Amino acid sequence: MTRIVVLGGGFGGVTATRHLERLCGGRPGLEITLVSRENYFVLTPLLFEACSGRLELRHCAQPIRPCLRRARFVEATVESVDIEQRVVHAVASDGGTYDLAYDQLVVALGASTNLKLIPGSSAALTFKTMADALLLRNRVIEQFERADAAADPDLRRRSLTFVVIGGGLVGVELLGELTAFADDVLRYYPRLRRDELRFHLFEAGARTLPEIDPGLATVATQVLERRGADIRVSTPVRAVEPGRVHLADTTIDANTIVLAAGIVPNAVAARIPVARDERGRIMVDETLRSRSNPEVWALGDCAAIPGPDGRPYPALAQHAIREARQLARNLSATLDGREPSPFVFHSLGTMAALGHSEAVAKVRSLRLTGFPAWWLRRTYYLLQMPRWDRRLRIVLDWTVALFFRPDITKVDIAGRQE
Ligand SMILES: Cc1cc2nc3c(=O)[nH]c(=O)nc-3n(C[C@H](O)[C@H](O)[C@H](O)COP(=O)(O)OP(=O)(O)OC[C@H]3O[C@@H](n4cnc5c(N)ncnc54)[C@H](O)[C@@H]3O)c2cc1C
Repeated sequence: MTRIVVLGGGFGGVTATRHLERLCGGRPGLEITLVSRENYFVLTPLLFEACSGRLELRHCAQPIRPCLRRARFVEATVESVDIEQRVVHAVASDGGTYDLAYDQLVVALGASTNLKLIPGSSAALTFKTMADALLLRNRVIEQFERADAAADPDLRRRSLTFVVIGGGLVGVELLGELTAFADDVLRYYPRLRRDELRFHLFEAGARTLPEIDPGLATVATQVLERRGADIRVSTPVRAVEPGRVHLADTTIDANTIVLAAGIVPNAVAARIPVARDERGRIMVDETLRSRSNPEVWALGDCAAIPGPDGRPYPALAQHAIREARQLARNLSATLDGREPSPFVFHSLGTMAALGHSEAVAKVRSLRLTGFPAWWLRRTYYLLQMPRWDRRLRIVLDWTVALFFRPDITKVDIAGRQE
């Protein structure tokens, strides 16, 4: 019996498991187990529209079980990995524990928002998971409700000020969707004026969207500035506290502060005692195999994978998916006694949605802006959803959203009875 255990049911883990099933499907005595905290995986590029309500929240996620044919799925949180004994320790939400023995381990636990970069970061919201999208959605709608009812000008100002920290892909796309959402729902709040809304984005680096070419980044900035957003580069946030963002020369009062200023490898992955780089990512060779432990493989945001120029590949979904396919081929080859091959991938391009059917996109040498870029991005990510039933639900949501304004229902997650 050969036991492969895959940790993490995101882009990397699910793709690797599906490819392992396909490549090793007929092999007798092989058991593949995928362990993940949730029983679904999130197509993160759709999270922005799930937050604004243009897409039903659940529809940006894909349940994992229907994607698998013969692999076993365990919904549990990995707590630790015993490298000596080759056992994964995981715990289910009801406290039940699992000890999963492995011969080959695939680590795809992803990353989380870096809360150590800026003091007081825990006072800000994050934007990484479906729960984050729901909390932010509730917070934004609540601010509109409060401001509409408030006579106090200070409270109105704080409620209608929205700050995004970090001008990378996530920060810029989020700001775009928030400004578009505000434009679309303002008519439900007759006591609010558009010019009372303030949107700020603070980026420590010299420009926004470092993932995309500078010309397109400038176009994106101009689009958002036309909507009244204040976008400042070379402006590091010094500290955050509840309701407040401190810059070098001023302080901004805002009830909604979202942190999107970088990621750190998943804490459990960073504790596995294998070779790691200075950022805590698992160091693998170009075949995606741990440099210190040949029975451990790693990919995606929690791994440092050397590219052809020696620099690690970026933490992006398009890379995680390709890494997963190569990892499955290499693991299967190793089990057959063949040599694994290096992972080489040249990015297809980058796309950033800005709300209101606008986007910027660079695909190979093609540069697109406005509606064509937006359409391309939507179509591409729709097709990234593995199953047709989910794709159909998304298309239906998008079609409804063409004719109606976004939903402003706030979900009461506290479940109050009185
Ligand atoms: C809002 C947003 C938008 C993005 N947009 C784009 C984009 O447009 N294009 C692009 O290429 N990339 C985009 N990215 C980046 C992309 O999502 C990541 O690079 C990609 O998800 C990495 O895949 P992964 O498998 O390494 O990690 P993930 O997809 O994050 O998966 C990690 C999995 O591990 C699970 N997990 C974590 N800890 C545990 C534990 N202790 N026990 C069990 N399970 C655990 C998690 O629940 C998750 O299912 C975006 C990211 C965000 C947050």
